Order: sequence, then structure tokens, then C-alpha cells
Amino acid sequence: MEKQVDVLIIGAGISGIGSAVHISKNCPQRSFEILERRESFGGTWDLFRYPGIRSDSDMSTFGFNFKPWAKEKVLASGPEIKGYLSEVINEFKLKEKIHFGHRVLSANYDSTKKKWLVEIEDNNKKKQTWSANFVLGCTGYYNYDQGYAPKFPHQEDFKGQLIHPQHWPENLDYKGKKVVIIGSGATAITLVPSMVKGGAGHVTMLQRSPSYIASIPSIDFIYEKTRKFMSEETAYKFTRARNIGMQRAIYALAQKHPKTVRRLLLKGIELQLKGKVDMKHFTPTYNPWDQRLCVVPDGDLFKALREGNASVETDQIEKFTANGVQLKSGKHLDADIVISATGLEIQILGGVKGSIDGKPMNTSHHMLYQGVMVSDVPNMAMIIGYINASWTLKVDVAADYICRLLNHMDKNGFDEVIALGNQADLMEDTVMGSLSSGYIARAADVMPKQGRRAPWKVTNNYLADRKELKNAKFNDGILQFSKRDEQADRKPKLVS
Ligand SMILES: Cc1cc2nc3c(=O)[nH]c(=O)nc-3n(C[C@H](O)[C@H](O)[C@H](O)COP(=O)(O)OP(=O)(O)OC[C@H]3O[C@@H](n4cnc5c(N)ncnc54)[C@H](O)[C@@H]3O)c2cc1C
Repeated sequence: MEKQVDVLIIGAGISGIGSAVHISKNCPQRSFEILERRESFGGTWDLFRYPGIRSDSDMSTFGFNFKPWAKEKVLASGPEIKGYLSEVINEFKLKEKIHFGHRVLSANYDSTKKKWLVEIEDNNKKKQTWSANFVLGCTGYYNYDQGYAPKFPHQEDFKGQLIHPQHWPENLDYKGKKVVIIGSGATAITLVPSMVKGGAGHVTMLQRSPSYIASIPSIDFIYEKTRKFMSEETAYKFTRARNIGMQRAIYALAQKHPKTVRRLLLKGIELQLKGKVDMKHFTPTYNPWDQRLCVVPDGDLFKALREGNASVETDQIEKFTANGVQLKSGKHLDADIVISATGLEIQILGGVKGSIDGKPMNTSHHMLYQGVMVSDVPNMAMIIGYINASWTLKVDVAADYICRLLNHMDKNGFDEVIALGNQADLMEDTVMGSLSSGYIARAADVMPKQGRRAPWKVTNNYLADRKELKNAKFNDGILQFSKRDEQADRKPKLVS
């Protein structure tokens, strides 16, 4: 055994870094270490390097509640987000806590010792085993090794470059080249204007079906003004509260009056396109917020389309050819480069093989108690942020809850906590909710499941979670606590 750790955080992305700050502030009696398989922090914002990589959440809600995002730009680039995280790491002295190049392979809970034994591999393929009292999974929701890349017919015939945005080649030269981007999600709509700006000859966005896209101002003028006569912290709090309220109101309106919201969104796009592009490419068949709503700053995508440097096709791929993509409609798209912005391969716990007393656990057979604790698994929580709002909002409230729980255990001398689930509560939907996006549907075999009722029902509602997680009592008969020398009354009843 090489190291004994109190709280072990897996992953140094937004969730891992945010949780570490909450633990250091609220549970000073607890020590923690962070294991990160990459050579740097930031997770998503370190991995994705395609041109224009940026958030599509506003930074007042994508930033943490403990550190203002001190810029007027509403959306931030990948490097800016990494810069913000780097400030957090320095400010809260987390540097020496992060062990880079350390990948967690497996974690087995020993219920006699009430400890996790965690197998780790470093970048030199050297293995070590650490023990931990409590494991916090902050590994995001997708596979870092490979993106979701459906195989297209005759793909191998294509003589140009076929690229997945998750593996962007360094120094890709696309100046003057014909580029086809397959997809209509956040990545595709970011890439189109960025590659046009970067000098691509022509960029075609090839989508199977349209998505809702809203144009938002790139600068928050109200934040800019309020910062002049309020402290940075107050202005940030005010902007954050305003944006949380606004986003929630739009989401609720879309659920209640989908037709009205649809009309408004489509009108906005029509005004942007100015009759230069057929609205059929931006008229989805589903209701607003049945899939994540995409945003573009200052209508940059629509500008690129209007000016003719980019175009959009709504069609299906029949096959790849030597010099492009043959569509089912009969049209051929010539391409030097094809970018397959087809999404992520969903993965939970970063591929860590979990087990309890040697018995393998399958995360898709579990629920999340209060959206945080893995059902029937001792001393394990995971942070899965919102997908209908900024991910980070959930990180803050979930980490605070975990701190309260750890403090409750320490106050009462408990070494183990288990949230005992009832199989009858387990539903088909995953904790990511009922969005109809392809990647959520693909998550069913991997993601923990939604519960039928509280505290197993994941609401994906920040305001409700904030209230619930702040006040939730621990003596609800579901959480079972025990001390090291005590046998838990009920053994976890895993369904594998
Ligand atoms: C292109 C893109 C844009 C996005 N934009 C937004 C947005 O605008 N707003 C929003 O709310 N969400 C957005 N998301 C979702 C985004 O993933 C989250 O916002 C957030 O960054 C997730 O943070 P995280 O720390 O939970 O996970 P990640 O960022 O995925 O970080 C997980 C970390 O865990 C590490 N890790 C994984 N497995 C292991 C292991 N076995 N051992 C050790 N370390 C491991 C990884 O290397 C990584 O550093 C976006 C996602 C993508 C892919």
C-alpha cells in the first residue's frame, strides 16, 4: 500500500477542482487528494482543442459561486476557462493536491475495513494501490479515449482528412480548403464561424435534422455597468441570480408553452438569416428544450452563412467518396477535410471498474440519492452537473451537500454511509433526464438511473436542488451510518 487518503477525488476538471475548494473550506478536518489521468487540469477544457472551442453557458453561472468570473464576455473560450481554473488552483492552494498522469483503473470497497482500495496506473504504466475512506467521482460523463464516431459507408474511400473534434490535429492547415462538418450541435455551430474566420475556403454544415439555435450578445452590458458601481463580488452575484432566474424561466416556459417559445426562437433566427438561407435548415421537428438549446454569440454562425462563406445542408449521408460526401438527395459535397462532430461516447466514473468486496458494480443499475450518493455503494458520491443549465451550478450545491454529510459523519464518529435504494424506485430514464438527444439515449446502459420519487428523483432544477441539498436531513431512514468496528445492519444489495 503506497498511500492512505481520506477523501479521494477522481478528476481535476471543473467538478474535481470545485469540490476540492468546497471540501477545503467546509471540512478543514478532512484531507483530500485529486487523481487526474491527464497531464493538466480542466478536463473538457483541456481535452478539446478545436478552433473556437468555447462554453455555451454564460460564465456567471458556469463560474463557481465562490469566485467571480471577472470578465464581461458572456461566453468564454477553452483557454479562458482553463485560465479561470488555474486561478482557482492557485488561490486555494490545490496544486500539490493534484496528482497528474495518474489514472484510476479500479476501486474495490472492503466492507470489513470500510475502505476503498484504488488501483492506479501512472503514465509510465507503473501501478500502485491507494486506500481511501471516501471516493468522489468527478470524471465527467464521457470517454476521454474516443469520441462517438459512427462508421459511415465507404468512409475508407475518402482521400482527404477525416477528423473527430475530440482528437483535433495540432496545426491542422485548413486555409483555403473545402470543409464539411457533420453535425448540428454545439461543436458544429462553433466550428463553422471559427473555421471561416480562420481562412477555410468554404465550410458546409451537414446535419441530419435542424436544432434550435439562439443568438445572444457576446458582452453582458449590464454586468459591465454594474461592476463600475458595485464590488466585483456583488456584481457577479447579481448577474448570476439574474441569469439563473432567466434561464429557469425560459426552460419552464418552454415546458409549459412550447409553441410560444418555438415561435420566438424561429422568429429570432429568421431575423438573423435575413432571407439569405432557407428556414427549413433551422426549423426543428421537436419542441424547444427537448434537446439542449444551442447558443451563438452575436449571431456569428448566421453571419457566416449570410455572407456565403459557409452553407448548411439538411440531408443524409449515402456514402463517402474519394473527394467528399455523397448525399441521399443526390447532391455531392466536395471536401478536403470532413469533421465528424457526431458527439461523445458516454462513460461514467472514467471507466473505473468498481466493486464491493470483489463483486462488480454496474453503475446503470444504481440511482443517485439526492443526485449525489450512489445507491447501495458505501462512501461513494459522484458529481454529474446539469445539462439543462450550467454544469457548475450543480457542482457547487452537490459539493456543499457532500461536505455537510462528511461533517455529520465526523461529528458522530461514523466511518461509513450507504444510501439504501429500493429497486422498485428505479426507472428507465437516466439521471441526465429525458432530453431526446442521441447521446442521452446512448447513455442508458452506462448512467445511473432516475428514481421514481424523492430523494432518488433527479430534478435537474438548480433552485429546487439548492433548497433541498442545503436542508436535507440525514436521519431519513435511507442513509445508513456505521462505525468501523460495527457491522452495517443491512448489506448493500447490489443488482449486477
Ligand atoms: C465541447 C464541450 C463543450 C461543453 N460546454 C459546456 C457548457 O458551455 N456549459 C456546460 O454547462 N457544460 C458544457 N459541457 C459539459 C462539460 O463537460 C461540463 O461543463 C464540465 O466541464 C464537466 O466537468 P467535469 O469536471 O465534471 O468533467 P470533465 O471536464 O470531463 O473532467 C473530468 C476529468 O476527470 C479525469 N478522469 C476521467 N477518468 C479518470 C480516471 N479513470 N482516472 C483519473 N482521472 C480521470 C479526466 O481526465 C478529466 O480531467 C461541454 C462539454 C463539451 C464536451
